[in-house]
Amino acid sequence: MSFSRKLEFLEKNTLLRAVRDKDSSRGRIICIEGKQLINFTSNDYLGLSSLLPLTDTIINAIETFGYGAAGSRLLSGGSILHRILEERLASLKGSERALLYSTGYAANTGSIPALTSDNDIILSDELNHASIIDGCRLSKAKTYVYTHIDVAHLTDLISVPASGKKLVITESLFSMDGDIAPLDDIYEVCRRHKAYLYIDDAHATGVLGRGKGSLEHFGLSVDRFVIQMGTLSKALGTMGGFIAATEEITDFLVNTSRSFIFSTALPAPDIAASLESLNQMEEHPELIENLTFNSSLCRGYLLEAGFSIKGGETPIIPVIFDTVEETLKISEHLYNRGIYVPAIRPPTVKKPRLRISISASHGKEDIEYLVDSMKEAVECPRQ
Ligand SMILES: *Cc1c(COP(=O)(O)O)cnc(C)c1O
Repeated sequence: MSFSRKLEFLEKNTLLRAVRDKDSSRGRIICIEGKQLINFTSNDYLGLSSLLPLTDTIINAIETFGYGAAGSRLLSGGSILHRILEERLASLKGSERALLYSTGYAANTGSIPALTSDNDIILSDELNHASIIDGCRLSKAKTYVYTHIDVAHLTDLISVPASGKKLVITESLFSMDGDIAPLDDIYEVCRRHKAYLYIDDAHATGVLGRGKGSLEHFGLSVDRFVIQMGTLSKALGTMGGFIAATEEITDFLVNTSRSFIFSTALPAPDIAASLESLNQMEEHPELIENLTFNSSLCRGYLLEAGFSIKGGETPIIPVIFDTVEETLKISEHLYNRGIYVPAIRPPTVKKPRLRISISASHGKEDIEYLVDSMKEAVECPRQ
């Protein structure tokens, strides 16, 4: 089938996607095609992406290092700010070291194949993020996929004999379902089977465990078998991914991880912004408190209104519908009411849904307006 035929097929099945770029964004409000919308789709959980103050640190970084990094970290792409940020991240995550990547995607696709080889096995949750799946595909290890958050299934699979090491990979706060993996149980399984535990904390960093992430949330210690992956691009509102682990592991990644070695370092001004963002998170604990409050408020309203929602206690709230058509209808209705919640459809997820993302910058009235408009959309016939 030609590309255009494939596109036509997608369009016929209401699965065609298109980019919708914004004209501007300020906190919870974005402007698309001249239209002001309350944004319920952003991963900017603490509202920091557009509200971070333009501090001297950030301006100095531009003046001292320029806009681009102009090389990979192993050449001259890094700066002293990179090292400072890595120290801050290691301390946030309670690990010996942290290593920056240009994105979370690069962290997963670069570290997973570096950490595993032919004789090893990977055990991966079926709902893990595409960047984890791609990391597993790039790895020479054999990957076994276990049923979503099913510790019994994981325990079965992990018992297969392997001559090399075992690596269990899970997201902590799942990005499409908004639920939290039973990390305490998974941690125990890994300890018992002498497996490494690789936690993708992309959505948990800055959200769970007072911002430190999922291990803190569960009260688990950062043992040597634990590898924490995180991003700066979600709650911290800037850019970049990282691995927090032992010095042995980060040194190994510096020498073997292709997306680290063969890609340009993050620009120093981005690093300065991330440092500022961490300051904001630590100096303003009310940001995370507001986020938690808003999330449970929204979940409460949705349940009261009879919507079918997934996950629990988290700011990612998937509202599940029977058909793609209905999901699109509601999303369109919300758009006309000045609310942005795009529909998430197969193949990204199995069941079509509106994925509501809550932010600390939303007000109570935003959330009331959202749920009222959703009720209205369900009742009204297609426009
Ligand atoms: C967003 C995301 C990533 C990738 O992070 P980027 O910094 O956006 O590249 C990795 N894992 C999960 C679970 C994510 O949600």
